[in-house]
Order: sequence, then C-alpha cells, then structure tokens
Amino acid sequence: MRVLVVEDEVRLAAGLRTGLEAEGFAVDVAHDGVDGLWLAQENPYAVVLLDLMLPGLDGYQVCRRLREAGCWVPVLMLTALGEPEDQVEGLELGADDYVTKPFAFPVLVARVRALARRGERERPVVLTAGDLTFDPASRVARRGDQDLGLTAREAAVLHLLIRRAGEALSKREILADVWDDDFDGDPNIVEVYVRRLRLKVDEPFGRSAIRTVRGAGYLLDGQGG
Ligand code: CA
Repeated sequence: MRVLVVEDEVRLAAGLRTGLEAEGFAVDVAHDGVDGLWLAQENPYAVVLLDLMLPGLDGYQVCRRLREAGCWVPVLMLTALGEPEDQVEGLELGADDYVTKPFAFPVLVARVRALARRGERERPVVLTAGDLTFDPASRVARRGDQDLGLTAREAAVLHLLIRRAGEALSKREILADVWDDDFDGDPNIVEVYVRRLRLKVDEPFGRSAIRTVRGAGYLLDGQGG
C-alpha cells in the first residue's frame, strides 16, 4: 500500500517515512505543497498525509485543488494548530480526517489504515468565502440560505473567483477559464459579467466581496466582503 507524506519538517517527514515503512507501507515524501499536489495527482496513493502549514501551497490549498481536480484520495490532515475551527475548515475542504501534532505514532497508523480501508469517496466540496457559498456539483451560489439565482456563465465566473479567493485574476485568466479557448470576442465581456455578479452577490446585501484590483484584474475577498 502506497502513501504520500507531504511535510516540510524534514526530520518529522523522515520519521514518518521510517515508521510507516516499518508498518509495511511504501512511502513517498514531498516537502512542499506544490510537489505534494503534483505527486498526489500523478500516483494512485491509498492515503495522503498532508501537513497544514507548508511552503508553496498550504495543506488547505493542496486539498482543495486535489478535490477540484476530481482526485478523491483519502486525505489525513496533520495539524499543529489543533483549534477546532482549523480542523473543521480542513474537513470542509475535503480532508477526510485529521491528527493534531504531536501525535502518538500508533494512533496515526490506525487512522491511515482506517482511511485506506475506506478508500476513495467522491464528495463535492462546497466552496466558501464567509457567508458566500458555491456548490460546484449543483452550480448554486448562496448568501447564507439565499439562492442567488446565477446563470450558468455567471456561476462559472464565480466558481473561478471563489476557488481562487484572495488572488487577483486578470481578465485574460478569467476569459481562458470560463470562455472557450477560441473566444475571439471583446475581452470586456468579463467586465460585463463581473458587474452582473456584483448585482446579485454583493449589492443586495450591502457587501463588496468582488473587488477591482487596479492593473491586475478582479479578486474575491475570502471573507465574503
Ligand atoms: Ca509544516
């Protein structure tokens, strides 16, 4: 059974490798989020052990991108923080279980075995930015409980903004993600859709989640505005 350990603390990663190999697992190790994400998508692991605080991409981002890419390998989050809200956030982003560092090794092995037995389980992740949510499965966006009634194209733009929340996205990036590659109309179509989204997502609620970043593009505030 092959597992991936994504852990930037080199000694801890080496200790996990040694311990898990002694338990009969084949172990790959990545020391940052970018390598971890790549390996997890390239290889069929039974379980991914994913540290939360990582250079490159953090554990939340790695987990979210894995799920967005349709990769449903069981993920065991390793968190040093231990606060309940962090654990909940990890699970909402599609982690299957977590252990808090420092952990007892037998406990960790038991969790890994349990996840490996359970196997992959497809589970669409509802993306959130404060009280703004987007369900990629149903394409429904909500503020709190209220369905925002987005059209398919509006939903596609919001999906991109919310899954990359906090990042400024250029019109070109938005076009490339939402419209076909061979779209050769006016790139200002993006402005039109951003304006429509604001009318549904922000203005009725007195919010300003969708920001214009001068010279860079548009950004969705991760707190929902
Ligand atoms: Ca770390």
